[in-house]
Amino acid sequence: MVFRITFLGTGGGRHTTMYQTRCTGGMLIEHGSGNHLHVDPGPGALTQMNRIHYDLSRTDSLVISHAHPDHYSDAESVIEGMTLGGWKKRGSLYGSPTVIDGDGTLGPCVSKYHIGKIGKVTVLRPGMTVAIDGLGTEICRSEHSDPTNIGFRFDTGNGVVSYVSDTGYSDDIARQYIGSRVLILPVTTPDDLRIPFHLCTDDAVSFIECVRPELAVFIHLGIVMIKKGPGLQAEETERRTGVRTVAAEDLDILEVGDSVSMSRAVAYGDEWIPDTSP
Ligand SMILES: [Zn+2]
Ligand SMILES: [Zn+2]
Repeated sequence: MVFRITFLGTGGGRHTTMYQTRCTGGMLIEHGSGNHLHVDPGPGALTQMNRIHYDLSRTDSLVISHAHPDHYSDAESVIEGMTLGGWKKRGSLYGSPTVIDGDGTLGPCVSKYHIGKIGKVTVLRPGMTVAIDGLGTEICRSEHSDPTNIGFRFDTGNGVVSYVSDTGYSDDIARQYIGSRVLILPVTTPDDLRIPFHLCTDDAVSFIECVRPELAVFIHLGIVMIKKGPGLQAEETERRTGVRTVAAEDLDILEVGDSVSMSRAVAYGDEWIPDTSP
C-alpha cells in the first residue's frame, strides 16, 4: 500500500497566491494501489503537474476544503483532466458546503457544467467519515473565515496523516488530530504574528505540543513567513517541541510506510507534451 504526497504548492494566503511567490497547487496524493487524489488545487496546480509530467487524467478524486481561491481556482481544469477532457463522466468531487453549493457570498467553486461531468459529488461536513477510493477519511472542524472549512484525517494503513486546512488555533481544534502520525499544518505567518483565522508559528508550536505527531510539515506559507525563512521557523519549532518539523518546498514528496520520509522532487527538465489521442 503506497501513500505518497507531492506538495504541488506550499504557498498560501492572499499575497503569496497573487504573486505566486510559492505555488498554491495543493497536494497530490497517491494511495492504495495507484489511486490519485488531488486536495485543494489552487493557482499553480496545473503548471506543477506539467512540471512533474503527471497526467491529470489519472486523477480519481478531487477534494476542496473551502471556498478560498488559494484552495480551488484550478479545480475546473482538474475536473476536465479527471473526465478525460470532459468526454467521460467519471471521478469524484468532495467539498465543503460553500464549495459545492455556495452560501450566497462564497462559492460555489465549480460550475454546474463541470459538476455535471463528475461521477459522484459529496458535500463534506465535520464528523463525517468517508472512503475516498478506499482511503478512509475523517472530516474535522476548523475556525475560519469560510465557516464551512474542513480538515482531514487520512487513514493510510500505516498511521494517520492529517491535513489541517486553514484555521485559527484553539485546543478544541487541535485535539481532533491527536493520534496523527504526520500533521500537515497551514502556518501562514511567522513567530507570534497572529492574523485572524490562521496559524502563526507560535500557534503551530501549541498545535504540535497537543498532537505530538512523528512529523509536522509546514505549508500554506504567507509572504511574510517566506521572507522570514520557513526553514528557520520549522527548526525553531522542532527545538521548542522536540517533534521533527520541516517546512515543505514546492514539489517535495512525503512518503508514509513503515517509516516517514520527506524528499525533494527529481528534476524533469524537458518540455512535456502528453499523448491525448483517444
Ligand atoms: Zn488558504
Ligand atoms: Zn482560507
